[in-house]
Amino acid sequence: MKPAKQQRSRTKFIFITGGVLSSLGKGLAAAAIGALLESRGLKITFQKLDPYINVDPGTMNPFQHGEVYVTDDGAETDLDLGHYERYTSVSLGQRNNYTSGRIYHTVISKERRGEYLGGTVQVIPHITDEIKKAVRQLEDEVDVAIVEIGGTIGDIESLPFLEAIRQLRTDLGRENTIYIHVTLVPYIKTAGEVKTKPTQHSVKELRAIGIQPDILLCRTETTLSDELKDKIGLFCNVERDAVITARDVDDIYEVPLCFHAEGLDDKILKLLNIWTGAPRLEPWQELVAKIKNPIREVPIAIIGKYVELKESYKSLHEALVHGGVANDARVVLHYVSAEDIEAQGPSQLLAHCHGILVPGGFGGRGVAGKIMAITHAREQKVPFFGICLGMQLATVEFARNIAGLADADSTEFNPGSPHPVIYFIKEWYDYRTSRVQIREESGELGGTLRLGSYPCTLREKTFARAAYGVEQVDERHRHRYEFNNEYRERLVEAGLVISGTSPDDKLVEIVELADHPWFLGCQFHPEFKSRPMRPHPLFAAFIKAALDHQG
Ligand code: GLN
Repeated sequence: MKPAKQQRSRTKFIFITGGVLSSLGKGLAAAAIGALLESRGLKITFQKLDPYINVDPGTMNPFQHGEVYVTDDGAETDLDLGHYERYTSVSLGQRNNYTSGRIYHTVISKERRGEYLGGTVQVIPHITDEIKKAVRQLEDEVDVAIVEIGGTIGDIESLPFLEAIRQLRTDLGRENTIYIHVTLVPYIKTAGEVKTKPTQHSVKELRAIGIQPDILLCRTETTLSDELKDKIGLFCNVERDAVITARDVDDIYEVPLCFHAEGLDDKILKLLNIWTGAPRLEPWQELVAKIKNPIREVPIAIIGKYVELKESYKSLHEALVHGGVANDARVVLHYVSAEDIEAQGPSQLLAHCHGILVPGGFGGRGVAGKIMAITHAREQKVPFFGICLGMQLATVEFARNIAGLADADSTEFNPGSPHPVIYFIKEWYDYRTSRVQIREESGELGGTLRLGSYPCTLREKTFARAAYGVEQVDERHRHRYEFNNEYRERLVEAGLVISGTSPDDKLVEIVELADHPWFLGCQFHPEFKSRPMRPHPLFAAFIKAALDHQG
């Protein structure tokens, strides 16, 4: 006989909302809370609920939304999931990121199938029930689930999510749910003091929809005095020791330590009635010490299209920092516009950099400049790291300038190229599902990408193998185009090293140049798997090569 299903879930929920304005670092706060709870031995997970109507962020312009973060299972998610994974040991996926669009999509599909039996389908209860179902999927697997609501209190769009989390306290019980509100306590220069009014208003708004926050995380430039905490606590109906200063820090990896110093994790555990031992924070202390006191510095150039908006290269930026940590070095990043390189040539713009990185990207803008940067790195023997589009363009550059294939190109930019060294592959064998995957050129937008984790076998005596130190790895993908095997022999004969392939040898995953201090392009996105405590091997090796180049 099967044991009766337990009535109460063992999972406790932390709901995080944001007030006053966006960009207060709610995602980082959620990640840091996760880090603290994990350091106390608790099993945790995360979820991000985004109020916008896009079904997922896959089709969104990185200018508007920042990076699209890809998980092992191939979900295209909000960049906050990147923070969650980097700060903890969790592995996230499809069920850890929901948008309004995705929730509505499910409800509308059900309605079309007649599953509501003729009833009127409404925001409450149908949309809210679907949201609660999404949240409660996390039940029973972890001790604590941290659920972050995107957007700011007061947005029309986020109301169904807020109503759903309000109901969840009744459904799950007071001891199993807490609400943390991230707010701003600005310093007003002319008055020479910090102001609590925006926080009061934001909490008032939250209470108007039935949510009384248990903890306030107050973003501020300085430390809040006890007096101010008293005031905020009184006006917002929050216990005094639940008013937490979240002051600006020099480095994002200091946040867990600052929260701990403010007593945040103790307060959370008390409210949730969880007993744990003391947190083990030494790894965080060591990390911060390393980041703050590097032995050396090394300038690295990132050649991009969205150089104005660093949010679109979030994981890449972090992975480079981690690569620096692995080498006791501070990586100084220079975002160089590919179009500037095209206009001015690479020599001057890249002269001071000891490593050149061409990241992933879509569309033809800036491609010519990126190729010029790759030629520069190859000829001047500057360490080069090409990621996804960067790998594809390194292949194109090599084909054109070394293998003598003039006009070689990716069919993404030149469908009529006489030498399509990067092309649209129609089918491939998927090891995850043990099935042949078909790519449709005319499929729904985004439906034709190779997404998520795939295995890659590494050849001996290559940069890749030396960096990873193992024969097989799994890395995450997000691209439509692939290396064209028809040109493989020709390019290899000309000196291109193919150091990583799919286990059946059909998909080229990594290319290198032998006659170079470090030149590597990979079809996957290694930046998604780098964590500060476990810097990604390719980033560590790239930064090491850049340091050697600097001498
Ligand atoms: N645009 C290229 C492709 O779709 C590369 C994508 C990327 O860099 N993520 O294959």
